[in-house]
Amino acid sequence: MRTWIKNPLSILAENAGGGMVVDGGKIVEIIAAGSQPSQPVESTYDASQHVVLPGLINTHHHFFQTLTRAHPAAINKELFPWLQALYPIWARHVKPDTFRLATRLALTELMMSGCTTVSDHHYLYPDGLENAMDIQIEEAARLGIRMTATRGSMSLSQKDGGLPPDSIVQDDDTILADCERVLNTYHDKSEGSMLQVALAPCAPFTVTKRLMTETMELAHRHDCTCHTHLGETIDENDYCIEHYGYRPVDYLEELGWMNDRVWLAHGIHFNDDEVLRLGKAGVGVCHCPTSNMVLASGNCRTKELEAAGCSVGLGVDGSASNDNSNLMEGVRHALMVGRLTYDAASVTHFDAFRWATEGSAKCLGRDDIGKIAVGKQADLSLYRLDDLRFSGAGDPLAALVLCGAHEADRVMVAGEWRVEDTMPVNMDLARLRHEHGEAAKAFLENL
Ligand SMILES: [Zn+2]
Repeated sequence: MRTWIKNPLSILAENAGGGMVVDGGKIVEIIAAGSQPSQPVESTYDASQHVVLPGLINTHHHFFQTLTRAHPAAINKELFPWLQALYPIWARHVKPDTFRLATRLALTELMMSGCTTVSDHHYLYPDGLENAMDIQIEEAARLGIRMTATRGSMSLSQKDGGLPPDSIVQDDDTILADCERVLNTYHDKSEGSMLQVALAPCAPFTVTKRLMTETMELAHRHDCTCHTHLGETIDENDYCIEHYGYRPVDYLEELGWMNDRVWLAHGIHFNDDEVLRLGKAGVGVCHCPTSNMVLASGNCRTKELEAAGCSVGLGVDGSASNDNSNLMEGVRHALMVGRLTYDAASVTHFDAFRWATEGSAKCLGRDDIGKIAVGKQADLSLYRLDDLRFSGAGDPLAALVLCGAHEADRVMVAGEWRVEDTMPVNMDLARLRHEHGEAAKAFLENL
């Protein structure tokens, strides 16, 4: 059925003042201002009160952490002490049922903020949570959101010199076997795919060298992307120098990870030479501005990374270091911290939108999403400017970022409306809030 998304108030697309025609889950025609579709349409959606963006794409998160937001044991700490405070709490309390609720909550929050594609870096595998990927995939399908299921891993625990406790890591063989299972079962590389798989050893301080190397071999065999945390803190640089004798980017190079299958979370503490090497290799970087500010991790060198050839995407990061899952808020924070890093003219709302859409799509290895253009998937986020915060705003696109939009009025994924009048069509929000809130109480035990 051909649908004309007609005459938007404003739209982030070239020469599209008249909107676009959507058919079969794709954008089939872009309409210039004052023009009509070239062929008859079966339905029309009046977008004259909406600012239209390509659906936002979140490229780094940890859904389970919604259960430990603003946790008294972890607030006001930097990354390593923050992790060490939370690891034992997660180890004791993350179970399949609570994990499912955490996943459902994070996905719903993301979608309500305008997100149409998600990836979640899930690396926590206590006994009983072996099927974490299957749970996440079921929940994404239920909500109708596009997903890169990111099979994370940790295999280097305290007994081997790593950071996490022994009870939440798996051995290399178990991890690699499950990565292969998840790839064989779910990885769909076709155009318009609703579900792809990425492999994601957690970080240099939580996995073995063997796991990093063999994960990349698996990725080459199955043609999938790879992800890990890198360059988030000075502590991590110190850890790599102490344990491996060199800095994190050298470590990546030795492991065969300097290639365009890879996107990194955070990517902050790189020197000039490392930025150039990452760009030359086509490595992507997921900028996590909110988390970087909360944990005082540092400023991502987004402009230099892009100039060097890296794709820069955007992520909210785990909900215990943000502490929400609102990607539109992340867009605003990317603009603000970018201006503090550079200057007011160097980082605009167009940069922040590009990171959250096209840049994120490239990080996930996709060219069929992230842009409003003929042939792309019909993934759209529509925002109204009715709230008091927008009153008096001149430029509608800039207003989304500068006045602080945080809620999409409508969200379309693959041509289907998944959020209408700010509400997800497949979700009972009151029930979800109650069930998740009750489940999270266990994480506050013994305080
Ligand atoms: Zn993270």
